[in-house]
Amino acid sequence: MSVNLRIPGPTPCPDDVLQAMSRQMINHRGPEFQEIITRITSSLQQFFETKNDVLTLTSAGTGAIEAAVVNTFSPGDRALCVSIGVFGDRFADIAQTYGVNVEKLSFDQGTAADPDAVAAALKKDASFKAVLLTHNETSTGVTNDLGAIAKAIRGVRPDILILVDAISSLGSVPLPIDAWDLDVVFTGSQKGWMVPPGMAMVAVSQRAWKAVDQARIPRYYFDYKKAKSYLEKGQTPWTPAVSVYFAMDVALQKLQKEGLKNIHERHARLGQFTRDSVKAMGLKIVPGEERYASNTVTAVWVPDGVDGPALNKMMRTEYNTVLAGGQGPLTGKIFRIGHLGFVSQEDLQACFDALKQALPRVGYSPVAAAR
Ligand SMILES: *Cc1c(COP(=O)(O)O)cnc(C)c1O
Repeated sequence: MSVNLRIPGPTPCPDDVLQAMSRQMINHRGPEFQEIITRITSSLQQFFETKNDVLTLTSAGTGAIEAAVVNTFSPGDRALCVSIGVFGDRFADIAQTYGVNVEKLSFDQGTAADPDAVAAALKKDASFKAVLLTHNETSTGVTNDLGAIAKAIRGVRPDILILVDAISSLGSVPLPIDAWDLDVVFTGSQKGWMVPPGMAMVAVSQRAWKAVDQARIPRYYFDYKKAKSYLEKGQTPWTPAVSVYFAMDVALQKLQKEGLKNIHERHARLGQFTRDSVKAMGLKIVPGEERYASNTVTAVWVPDGVDGPALNKMMRTEYNTVLAGGQGPLTGKIFRIGHLGFVSQEDLQACFDALKQALPRVGYSPVAAAR
């Protein structure tokens, strides 16, 4: 029996995507690679709903966060970082590491950012050059209302830069980059794209390119301008993860066949199915308001009397099901179920069938939990 990998990345990959990776190497400066990167780039522009430049970087998602920072800021620039969890905090940390003067606007674990509060912070201080946002906070399973937040931001500062970590949302839930007027938006191959880790993809707006021209933080590997000039030749500045490009090429063709709208609907349906199944077991999800609950990952409170790590261990060793634990302040307090990318209702049903058996074995009693 194969493992049911229910973590929010790396996510399972279809067989033909994996097979594409076992191909022989090609010249990354030759015509065949040029064809592949050109096809990937224009397909990503469709999934991102953008006419902006789309760059592909050989990197983890965190590299894309770092790239967004080093390409748009100079040391001492002011940024407002809106954080609703671990990944929002990481965005702030990376910016601070490079000398950006970050003000953090934090919201409680399990809540979404309030667009009015973001607008108020911008009204109070006109010195911000950019707002740093997380679309889907993978650590708490909360999706921000990014459209409303972007609108609130533009209402105060029409030309401020909006930089978005959309690593665990883009491609899986609606995120029309141009309609929402977002400047730098990035994701990673191992989340909703059904591809192994190794590629980060980023959309860069005209407004962002102006900032890139002025940005003075030192950068080399992650230089957007180098990436853009090489892309014009159908190449990347440095040797790319060629096999991951093979995989992405196949995965994007499969996703094209399913269609963006159908992909979004599948994630919405499976997100609802997951939450309904969690509640039917007497368990509670972490997001306080269900309308902000993520359709790519569901965070669940570990019930009283149950040891979270012991539950995950039993699920893995006895039921072939791999769940994610909590991160940061939620370590040991929650478990998380990934439902993004190559996932079906059967995969989730199998996960809940296993949970139903495992939970009582680690001390769960639904009656006690309901009290
Ligand atoms: C997974 C994730 C990251 C980090 O990606 P890595 O590839 O592990 O560096 C950052 N932000 C969000 C929202 C994520 O889900």
